[in-house]
Amino acid sequence: MSNLKTTYLVVGGGIAGVTCVETLAILHPEESLIIITASSLVKNVSNVSFYAKTIVKFDVNETEASSLQRIHPNLKIVYDSLKHVDTENQLAITDQGVVIQYDVMCLCTGGIPRLISESSKCSRILGIRDTESVKEFQARLKSGRRMVIVGNGGIASEIVHATSGIQKVWVIRDDYISSTFIDPGAAEFFQNTFNSDETVDKSKNTILQRHVFTEEDIIVSLNKDLKSAALGPDWYRKLEGIKNDSGVQELEIIYKVEVKSVVENDGEDYPLKVELTNEKTIYCDFLISATGVEPAVNFTWDKEPKKGSDGGLAVNENQETSIKNIFAAGDVACAAWKHAPHWFQLRLWTQARQMAGMAAKAMHGRITNEEVLQDFCFELFTHCTSLFGYRVVLLGKYNGQGLGNDYEILLRTTPKLEYIKFVLQNGRLQGAILIGETDLEEMCENLILDQLDLSPFGDDILNPDIDIDDYFD
Ligand SMILES: Cc1cc2nc3c(=O)[nH]c(=O)nc-3n(C[C@H](O)[C@H](O)[C@H](O)COP(=O)(O)OP(=O)(O)OC[C@H]3O[C@@H](n4cnc5c(N)ncnc54)[C@H](O)[C@@H]3O)c2cc1C
Repeated sequence: MSNLKTTYLVVGGGIAGVTCVETLAILHPEESLIIITASSLVKNVSNVSFYAKTIVKFDVNETEASSLQRIHPNLKIVYDSLKHVDTENQLAITDQGVVIQYDVMCLCTGGIPRLISESSKCSRILGIRDTESVKEFQARLKSGRRMVIVGNGGIASEIVHATSGIQKVWVIRDDYISSTFIDPGAAEFFQNTFNSDETVDKSKNTILQRHVFTEEDIIVSLNKDLKSAALGPDWYRKLEGIKNDSGVQELEIIYKVEVKSVVENDGEDYPLKVELTNEKTIYCDFLISATGVEPAVNFTWDKEPKKGSDGGLAVNENQETSIKNIFAAGDVACAAWKHAPHWFQLRLWTQARQMAGMAAKAMHGRITNEEVLQDFCFELFTHCTSLFGYRVVLLGKYNGQGLGNDYEILLRTTPKLEYIKFVLQNGRLQGAILIGETDLEEMCENLILDQLDLSPFGDDILNPDIDIDDYFD
C-alpha cells in the first residue's frame, strides 16, 4: 500500500481521461497530476481540423500511456483500477491498495456494453463492442442461417442493413426503428453509391425536395409517436420484402418486445432458443446483442453522488457532480444541466472530448479560484465522422429530435456526390445532415445558432444553382 498526494486526479485512459490530462497540462503544467489507467494503452486524438467554430473533425488512436509524460512533466501514471472513493477525505483507493489524496478529481471511466443477462453463460450471444467482436461476428455470419438482433441503435441498424444471405429477426423494444446517426434517406444514398457505376453529372442528377411532416406521414412511418424523421425510402421495408433462395423472407422486425430468455438447444436443428415477452419463440444460430452502453460506475463510494436517469453521474455545466471537487466527463457522465436548444447528449468521441476539456477548465478554475463559463461547444450538437469514404457532419436536431410533428425537411441529394438534409421549424434551421464535400458546414452552424428566418428564401436555400452565401453578405 502506498500513499500519494496530488492536486489533480484523472481516472480512465479513454478519450475523456486523456483529453482532461492534456488540457490540464496546458492550463497548469507546474501542478501535480495523476492518471489512473488500468491499461498501458490509452486513447488519444490527432489530426484535429475545424470545419467551423464548433465543428471539429479528428482521428482517434491508441498510444502508450507513458507518452503522456512528454506533454506533462509532472504527470504520474498509476497503472491500476479505481476501487473506492472516500469523498469525505478526498481519497481515491485502487484495486492494489494505492491511496491517492486529491484536491479535485475527474472520473472518466466510460461505459460498458449492455449485454442481455444470459450472455455470460452462452457463447452464441455476441455483443458488438470492438473490432475483435466484429471479427467473431463475421465468422459466425458465414455459417449461420438465422440470427436474432436485439437493439435499436446505430450498431443494430448497421448490422441489419449490412448483412445479407442470412435470415434476420430484429427484436425492437420500441414501436419504430431508428438509426442514431443517419436517417433512412442517407442510408439509401450510401446504398445507391455502392450499386451504381455511373459517373456523376451533378446538373442532371440533383434532386431537391421539400417535405412537410403531417399526421399521415407519422402513420405511414409505423409510429404514432415518431420523434425522428423517417424521410426517404424505408430501406428496412425493402429488406422485409426480400426472399432468400428457399423463398423465406430475409428480415422480420418484431416491435415492442424484449427478450425473456435464451436457452441453448443442443442437438436440435437450431442451437439457440430465444423466448420473447410476447410469448413468441424464435430458433436461431446466434443472437447479436447491440443494446448500447451503460455508464461504468464500477467502484464504490462512502457517499453516492446524484445519478441521471440513464445511470450516469449527473454533472452540471462545469462537469461537476453533486459532490464538490468530483467532476465527471465522457460516457460515465449524464449531462444534467439545462441544455441549449440545439444540443443534446449522445455518447460519442466528440462529446467525451468536449466534456473532458470543460472539466479540466473547471478543475483548474477551482484550484486557482477563477470563474469559468461553459464552453461554446455546448450550444450546438455537432458530430463529424466519415462513412464509406464520405465526410458526414451532423448538426443540431439533425433527425428532428424533440421537435414533435410540425417540422419540415428540405433535401438535396446528388447520387454518389452529396446528401444534404435541412430540418426546419417555423422557417428556421434546427438541424442538418451533410454528407460529402458540401462546404455548407459554416453556413449551417451560423443559421442554427442565429435562428435566422429562412422562409423568404423558400427552397432556394438548397438550390445548387444559387450561392446561398450571397444572401447573407
Ligand atoms: C461498438 C462501439 C462503436 C462506437 N463507434 C463510435 C464512433 O464511430 N464514433 C464515435 O464518436 N463514438 C463511437 N462510439 C462511442 C465512443 O466509443 C464513446 O463515446 C467514447 O469512447 C467515450 O469515451 P470515454 O473516455 O468516456 O470512455 P472509454 O473510451 O470507454 O474509456 C474509459 C476508460 O476508463 C477505463 N476504466 C473503466 N473503469 C475504470 C476504473 N474503475 N479504474 C480505472 N480505469 C477505468 C477503461 O478501461 C477505459 O480505458 C462507439 C461505441 C461503441 C461501444
